[in-house]
Amino acid sequence: MFQNLGFDLFLVTNQSGVGRGYFSLEAVYVIHKQIQNDMREQKLAPFKDFAICPHSPDDKCECRKPSGKMIQDLIEKYHISPEHSYMVGDKLLDAEAGKNAGVQGVLVRHAHNSDFPFFKTLLDFAHSLKK
Ligand SMILES: [Zn+2]
Repeated sequence: MFQNLGFDLFLVTNQSGVGRGYFSLEAVYVIHKQIQNDMREQKLAPFKDFAICPHSPDDKCECRKPSGKMIQDLIEKYHISPEHSYMVGDKLLDAEAGKNAGVQGVLVRHAHNSDFPFFKTLLDFAHSLKK
C-alpha cells in the first residue's frame, strides 16, 4: 500500500547487540537479506535501503536513534523530501529520530504519552494516508 501511494521504504534500525558482542553485523545482514527475499516472495517491493547503527549506547555514536543521523543520511543519499516522508516505529525513540531529521514521526502498536500520531497497526496508518 505504501509503495502504491508512491513511497519508497527504508529500514532504520538500532542493533546494539552487535556493539555488545551478542551477534555479528554479518548476522544482521543475513536477516535483512531474508526480509528482502520474503518481501519479493510475497510480491512486495523490497526495502530500498537499510540503515544500521551497530553501536552500543556506551559507544556514544552519532547514529543511534533517537539521533536523526541515519535518516538524514538516507535523505541526502536518495534526495528524499523530508516534509513528504514519515518515520514509523513502535518506540518513542523511532518517532523522535524522525523528528530530529525533520520527518514526521508516527507510532504504531505502542501508545506513548507524546504528541506523535498513533495507529494500532501499520495497516491503519497506511489507510490514513489514502484519505
Ligand atoms: Zn551508531
